[in-house]
This record gives sequence, C-alpha cells and structure tokens, in this order.
Amino acid sequence: YLLAVAATGCFGAGLLVALADAGQDNSSSGSDEAVSAGNSRKQKVVILGTGWGGVSFLKNLDSSKYDVRVVSPRNYFVFTPLLPSVTSGTVEARSITEPIRRIIRKKDVKFHEAECTKIDAANKKVVCRDSSDVKCVGKEEFELEYDYLVVAVGATSNTFGTKGVEEYCHFLKEIEDAEKIRGRIVDCFETASLPHLSDEDRRKLLSFVIVGGGPTGVEYAAELHDLIHEDLTGLYPELQKIVKITVVQSGDHILNTFDGRISEYAEKKFAREGIDVKIGSRVLGVSDESITFKSKATGNLVEMPYGMIVWSTDEWLRVKNAEGVYALGDCATIEQRKIAEDIAYLFKLADKNGDGTLSVSEFVDTMNNVRVRYPQIDLYMERQHMKGVVGLLNDAIKKEKDLKLDLDHFSEAICKVDSQMKSTPATAQVAAQQGEYLARSFNHLATEDPDEGPVRIRGGGRHRCQPFLYRHLGQFAPLGGETTAAELPGDWVSIGRSTQWLWYSVYASKQVSWRTRALVIFDWTKRFVFGRDSSRM
Ligand code: FAD
Repeated sequence: YLLAVAATGCFGAGLLVALADAGQDNSSSGSDEAVSAGNSRKQKVVILGTGWGGVSFLKNLDSSKYDVRVVSPRNYFVFTPLLPSVTSGTVEARSITEPIRRIIRKKDVKFHEAECTKIDAANKKVVCRDSSDVKCVGKEEFELEYDYLVVAVGATSNTFGTKGVEEYCHFLKEIEDAEKIRGRIVDCFETASLPHLSDEDRRKLLSFVIVGGGPTGVEYAAELHDLIHEDLTGLYPELQKIVKITVVQSGDHILNTFDGRISEYAEKKFAREGIDVKIGSRVLGVSDESITFKSKATGNLVEMPYGMIVWSTDEWLRVKNAEGVYALGDCATIEQRKIAEDIAYLFKLADKNGDGTLSVSEFVDTMNNVRVRYPQIDLYMERQHMKGVVGLLNDAIKKEKDLKLDLDHFSEAICKVDSQMKSTPATAQVAAQQGEYLARSFNHLATEDPDEGPVRIRGGGRHRCQPFLYRHLGQFAPLGGETTAAELPGDWVSIGRSTQWLWYSVYASKQVSWRTRALVIFDWTKRFVFGRDSSRM
C-alpha cells in the first residue's frame, strides 16, 4: 500500500533511532574517531535482520570500510507488500523472496543464519542462537562483538492481549504465514464440499474473518474476494452462495490513515461486493469455533462462527529499551516522548557540577554525542521556540564562555518540540529510507577527516551527518477487481483501473532484483491467462 511513486519535498520527523541507555555515558564518540581515516582496524558492524531496513542499510553501506556481519533467522529478503497476493496464489512465495547471499555476493559481508537472543551493550556483544532445524548439538549459541550494532528486527502483530488470538488466528507477517493461509482457504472449501455436512457446518467453514481494516487487512480481504469470485466459485459452484467475508474494524472507517475519499470508496465497493465491514467493533475473544466482538455504537455482542480468521492489526514494538544500539525500521517506531526524555537526560548527565551550567566544550561534546544517537536533534534545534536557546548557545560558543543553561527549561523545550513532531509510520518505505540514511552516515563517518576542525552545533559549524528527513512518497490501497486507490503527494487521489496499472509498474520496479522482477511479472501474466492455482500443497 505504501510505495515510492514520486519524489517530493515533504518530510515527517521520525528517523533511525538510537535506542541508547540514557544512563550510560556515551562511548560512541570514541568509536567515531576510531572509524576515521587512517585507523588500521576496521570497525565491526553487526546488522540484525534481513528485512526492509537491514537490506536497505546493507545495500547502501560501503562494506570495504567496515567488517560487516549480518545475523537473521531468515536467509532471504521478503517483498512484504506482495504478501497478500501470496495468500491467494496471485504470486508465488518464491517470486517475492531474494536470498540474502545473492544480495551480498559482491560485497565484503558475512551472513549468519541465527537469531539474536541478547544484546550485551556494556561489552558490545550480541548473543546469537541457531534456531534452524539443522544445528550442531551443544553448539547452538555463539557471540559476536560489535562497534556498531544496527537493529532492524521488525515488529510482531499486536494482539492487544485478546484471548484466543495467538492460538486460533492466522497472522500475515512472513512467507510461511501467507502459504498457510493459502492452504487453509482451499482446505475450508474442500471440507465444506464433503457430502455429510449440514448447511450450518458449511456456512461456518466458509466464514472468513479479517480483523483490522488497515491497508494490509483491506488488501487481503480484496485478494480473498478476487480468489473466491474469479477462481473458486467456478470450481465449487454449489458453495458460491454461502461464502462470507467479514472485516472487523475497531475504528470508524476502514483505511482510516488514507484520504477520506479513499476510505469512502473502499467501504462502498466492499458493500457492493458483499464484503461485510463491521466498523466500530472491538474483538473481545476468539475460541476454536467463533469470534466475539462488541459494537461500540450499540453495545451489542456478536458471536460469529468462522472457518478462518486473519489477524492484521497494528504492530507491536519488539525491542523497546534495548541498550546502546541503532534501531531502524518497524522496531524503531518507539514513542517520540522517550527520545526527548533521553536527550534531556544526556544533557543533564553532562552537568558534572549539578548547578545547571555547562562549559562550551561540554555542551558541544554532549551535542555531538546526542547527534550520533538521535540525529533528529538538529531538527529539534530548528524549531521556533528553540530559537532563544540556540541563540544563547551560539553566542556562548562564539565568545568561548561558560554557558548558563537552565537544563530544566532546556528539557521542557526539547519535550515540547518532540510532542509536535509527527511520528513516522511503520512501513517499508520508512524502513528503506532509514536504512539508506544510516548507511550514508556510516560511509561518511568512515571517511571523515579528523583535522577538519571542531564539530559545532547549527549555524556556521560543520555537521557530522545531516539529520534524517523522511520523504513520504505516496501510498497505494489495492481494492481488488483490478482496482487500486492511490494517495499521492499534493493531495492527489486516484482510484480505478489505470491506478492498478500504476501499482503493477511501481511494484515491479521496486523489486530488489531482476530475478524477482521477472518472476513477479510472470506470475501476474500467468494469473491473467490461467487463473490462480487452487491446489492445496
Ligand atoms: P522486517 O522487514 O519485518 O524485517 C525484520 C527482519 O528481522 C527479518 O529478516 C527477521 O527475520 C529478522 N529478525 C527478527 N528477529 C530477529 C532476531 N532476534 N535476530 C536477528 N534477526 C531477527 N509497507 C509498505 O510500505 N508498503 C506496503 O505495501 C506494505 N505492505 C505490507 C504487507 C504486509 C502483509 C506486511 C506484514 C507489511 C507490509 N508493509 C508495507 C510494512 C513493511 O513490510 C514493514 O514496515 C517493513 O517490513 C519494516 O521493515 P523492517 O526492516 O523494520 O522489518
């Protein structure tokens, strides 16, 4: 649903986040010097994750400058925007995956198929475990040292603690999930075709529920509808009338992060096609037989038998409060407030006398340390009500005098800026931009000339790295039946078949390799000519 379609100057505020231990004194400035030109030992960079963030970082990093290792339990990259198409067989699973070893084959990078189980920030080590089926007994665990750790481990779906969700619902995050869903849909149809079942049994088996009316839930519902009406009803004609698709959405509209015109169009289209959208409904629990939800408007409880439920709600942050590491992608979408508090705390730590006073050098050092962890500090300093603080700082730096910085006032100002900043969404577009930005910053740090003079805060001084600016390039919402809605920069909305062709071309162009591009186009063509394959493997 979200993809780069046109470059714009728009930017939001979030960015790669250094999930640092605020209580630890910053040691990364020392490391920064060590990566400077002339240092013989290559700095060790460990990347956790082979998703959008990790791969974008990897592709853009100059791996000749660092000793780079990638750790992930998944030895391939998945083009997640096409995962819903795998559930219906529109594209094949292997067409949207690229082996990580192909991505790194021309780079000086090592890959380890394992999951990180612990970050030992104090000793700059990660503990990893081989979680694959084939392992060397007694030697499953190993450690890797790092100078820089890039955490891009993604996020897991948020079940909001709802009873029964983990046990009975399908999630749509990984390739295996999509393949399981594909098999389950066909299994529901095959079982519903058995001769000895009652109509009630058949209705239950062919009741497909999707929880979550966001872009992924809506796209999956549209794919399911297309699969059933374009392919399965011809194969199971007697079941056509009893199939039911229901989308349960807690908000007042589906696609509520999109332009209102798109939500309205999608709701009307779904209503016409018989997809039942239950807006304002909160799921209370799921059992092996039924799902129970409550309408916010009427207070009525609905218990609905189901054949399959796909849970596609907001994502849950997995690595909150990890220490001493850079995080990017979905796992970096931590509360903006926490960042502000960390920044304020780092300044407080620099006040050795505890009298609210910093020397010029203390301030500049702290600023540089903070910038390594939180590059958005430069954006904060540009905000209107930081002007007074920045003026005072630049004045003090010019006159080389001690600062009389009221740290409480400073913290308050920083937190106020932060609450005004828009948080970045958890999307592939954001993760890829963050990965690219972080790689460019690392490439820059590796070639930095230490004799270029002191690093200063804004206003005349030189900067280690430019702050990250997120460029929102537009978003797509495929609605099924060869119709897609697109929201493009400049308040431009386009819905229809021509937008579907734009979607095809953008998604084909965004593939990570020519191999996957060719496979995806081949799958689309195959579907047009022969329809989808309904065998259950
Ligand atoms: P991921 O891409 O999820 O990658 C996480 C990586 O970390 C994986 O390789 C995983 O194996 C690895 N990992 C996990 N745990 C560990 C560990 N302990 N140690 C080491 N490695 C670990 N966004 C869009 O912009 N447009 C779309 O159309 C779109 N459609 C989507 C459709 C679906 C079905 C889904 C699920 C998501 C979609 N998204 C879309 C969102 C997008 O996929 C995510 O925002 C993006 O994948 C985030 O990238 P990431 O690198 O943070 O995490």
